[in-house]
Amino acid sequence: MLKIKTCPTCGSKRIRNVRRTVRRTVKGKRYVVPDLEFYECPDCGEKLYGPEAMRRIEAYSPAYAKSRRIALPA
Ligand SMILES: [Zn+2]
Repeated sequence: MLKIKTCPTCGSKRIRNVRRTVRRTVKGKRYVVPDLEFYECPDCGEKLYGPEAMRRIEAYSPAYAKSRRIALPA
């Protein structure tokens, strides 16, 4: 897990590690990543995802689904 002490966006020292179910939207498709660990800044709303969080997001994201092959426009 990466360690972050200050928010890279606003410089707030209140940024903190949270664990929460996250709802995201990619290309109009909504999906849910349950029990995701990430950093959130209470001052500006910035969210930072570490490598583990990114892997979990990708695993749940329809944009990265490996079981389906989607032809994307170039
Ligand atoms: Zn911030």
